[in-house]
Amino acid sequence: MHSPLRHLPSLIWKHRPIQLTYFVTRRCNARCPYCFYLQSEAAASCGDELSVEELRRVARSLGSLLWLALSGGEIFLRRDLPEVCQTFYEVNRPAIILLPTNGSLPDLIAESTERIVAQCPESVVAVKLSIDGVGEAHDRLRNTPQSFERTLQTHARLAPLLERYPNLELGVNTVFCAANQDAMESIIDFVASLPGVGTHTVSLVRGDLRQPDYKAVDLDKYASTAARLAERMQRESSARYRFRGARLKAAQDVLQRQLIRRTVQTGRRQIPCYAGRANLVLGETGEVYPCETLTQSWGNVREHGYDIHSVLRTSPARRGGEAIRAAACHCSHECYFMTNIMLNPRLYPALAREWLRLPKAALHR
Ligand code: SF4
Repeated sequence: MHSPLRHLPSLIWKHRPIQLTYFVTRRCNARCPYCFYLQSEAAASCGDELSVEELRRVARSLGSLLWLALSGGEIFLRRDLPEVCQTFYEVNRPAIILLPTNGSLPDLIAESTERIVAQCPESVVAVKLSIDGVGEAHDRLRNTPQSFERTLQTHARLAPLLERYPNLELGVNTVFCAANQDAMESIIDFVASLPGVGTHTVSLVRGDLRQPDYKAVDLDKYASTAARLAERMQRESSARYRFRGARLKAAQDVLQRQLIRRTVQTGRRQIPCYAGRANLVLGETGEVYPCETLTQSWGNVREHGYDIHSVLRTSPARRGGEAIRAAACHCSHECYFMTNIMLNPRLYPALAREWLRLPKAALHR
């Protein structure tokens, strides 16, 4: 596997992106009312998506990556998704490629995933299915009839691949919002019953939504959900990723949920954020952002010879970076918490405490 240890210098310098979130498309076949991306102003236009050839030029400007997170939209609607992944795999050698999906296209998702895991054998490929309720509750929440059933069909197609591809990870993500916060116990139990599913993560609803009432969450309920997920990880090593280092990732997940709760409760950032330095977002048309929350573009790679570092030298990027360092913003975005924890040695004692609470995994390879 591509070793995460290649990125140890970033612990000190944090001078270049090691985590890229790439929004491959805005197109989506679901209409979830709490999707921050589809609700945003720019969603009116799907724009001219970066081609694989353009992406190869962007990838060449990046250097090696620890973590490539694809996002959307429904990422599998891009028929060339396997080529997109292969491009980053060849050029940036990411240790982890994250593929979140609403799970509504079983055949397409299974076929594309198999191509990706086969083409990227040295990367961990983590497919995350969205499950926000059990049965019709999921369909109602996501405004998408039969979506629960199709997600289960996708799960049934993906689970057998785990035997054949040791670099495949299968997980579930649930958006925690006001409309499903009382059903978390049954959702967690249901996900635990799905064969082959390792991690179950919960994302706190975020962003500027057209219906902000979805954000009226009860933080005590979020804390109970976090405690229940942590307890499951402490009890069962199978409730985690299979890759080497999964115990550390599980400890980080637990610490992350504690920090997120404190961030939302206090309305203040709890730890430094490395957005715009260690983490970057690339939009489907080439705009570069420091993170998903700050939607003021720092520039477009198409206007900078597809060189990310050229965009990072623009004055919007310099001004934006200064504001981030001055802690002018805060958020609960889980992916960024991951890097912000892993690259912050001051958090290692807390990380070690959570690590010691977890049983050793039986599935390391
Ligand atoms: S704290 Fe959140 S909003 Fe602010 S820069 Fe970091 S990721 Fe973006």
